Amino acid sequence: MENIPVSGPWITEKEIAYVTEAVSSAWYSQANVFHQRFEEKFADYLGVRYAVTLPSCTAAIHLALAALGIGPGDEVVVPDITWIATAAPISYVGATPVFVDIDPRTWCLSAASLEECLTSRTKAVIPVDLYGGMPDWDAIRAVAVRHNLAVIEDAAEALGSEYHGRKAGSLGDLGVFSFHGSKTLTTGEGGMLVTDRTEIYERVLFLRDHGRRPGDKMFWNTEVAYKYKMSSMQAALGLAQMERIEELVDRKRRIFSWYQQELAGVQDVTLNYEAPGTKNTYWMVTAVLAEELGLEKERIIELIRKDGIDCRPFFYPLSSLPAYQDLLSAQQARRRNHVSYHLSPYGVNLPSGMNMTAKKARYVSQTLHGILGGSARHAPPAYLKTAYLTEG
Ligand SMILES: *Cc1c(COP(=O)(O)O)cnc(C)c1O
Repeated sequence: MENIPVSGPWITEKEIAYVTEAVSSAWYSQANVFHQRFEEKFADYLGVRYAVTLPSCTAAIHLALAALGIGPGDEVVVPDITWIATAAPISYVGATPVFVDIDPRTWCLSAASLEECLTSRTKAVIPVDLYGGMPDWDAIRAVAVRHNLAVIEDAAEALGSEYHGRKAGSLGDLGVFSFHGSKTLTTGEGGMLVTDRTEIYERVLFLRDHGRRPGDKMFWNTEVAYKYKMSSMQAALGLAQMERIEELVDRKRRIFSWYQQELAGVQDVTLNYEAPGTKNTYWMVTAVLAEELGLEKERIIELIRKDGIDCRPFFYPLSSLPAYQDLLSAQQARRRNHVSYHLSPYGVNLPSGMNMTAKKARYVSQTLHGILGGSARHAPPAYLKTAYLTEG
């Protein structure tokens, strides 16, 4: 069996044709054509008014915070379990990240923990649709309304996911997406910010172009701001992928269903959760092993690599990272966030790239079974009574 990567895109002739067209023609008066088409298609799909192409999701979060006027002295709440890109921009604007615990089923920010950690300085919360799954948005929004918090939805991993009929990214005041090469839709590197609010949209356009409004007097900057733009070639790639979005999302869900078939019934393995009324797009199929097995994620990753399979660790709690070692709010989080600290050591992201097949998912699952060996408390399915089990 060839090596199985953890993630990767699905590129067809359509993408190649659009990028070729962009590099040939998207200059001069046509320079913004692909951005406009990509943004329009994206906003339509989400059911929001505005979408702005950006160089990354990190830039989108930075601009979101800046547009909301968040700065020194303010606190912004993030789940302890996420990629650091959710939290790093809070430091860029001089505010303080507060890391709150996750829900044990959704693995996303817990509304109850959010409420416990609020202070008079809390200005915003950035819930994350982790691995394509949905938090309890109703509960989170109720807390946000009660305490007058701005909500930035980090939907970087959740394009196409849904919460009671609403698309991921449309559930907060602003939503942000990533088109990094590992994500469900890719532009190589790239991001998008979406919102329904005109004043935020206009402020974002101003801040991402060195502090000048579209159409203003030439070279006349009224504030020192940022330069965050996507190229036409990337926008063309994104448009082509967006025209195939249903196919991309279906593939992600299909990959999950293969693993589910292979791993269902294994008592000590929990896969991604899909709450009633939600649609999970399973950016990364993730297995959390029972703590009692004592098999930590680094060990599993090391063992499974021997069979040519590339896995990733469940995110480390941000509050445990050296980057936040000295931060007071991280020290508090380390004592408080029990769910994060109990789940994180035992979770692995299984290969979920667009090039997965049923056969590869079976191979990965069987290899994982083999690693669990006798320690998993389950009767092995019939197909597992093969070499590695009988050999002991
Ligand atoms: C990938 C990711 C990001 C960052 O995206 P970039 O485009 O690499 O900046 C942010 N948040 C989450 C949850 C992610 O998975």
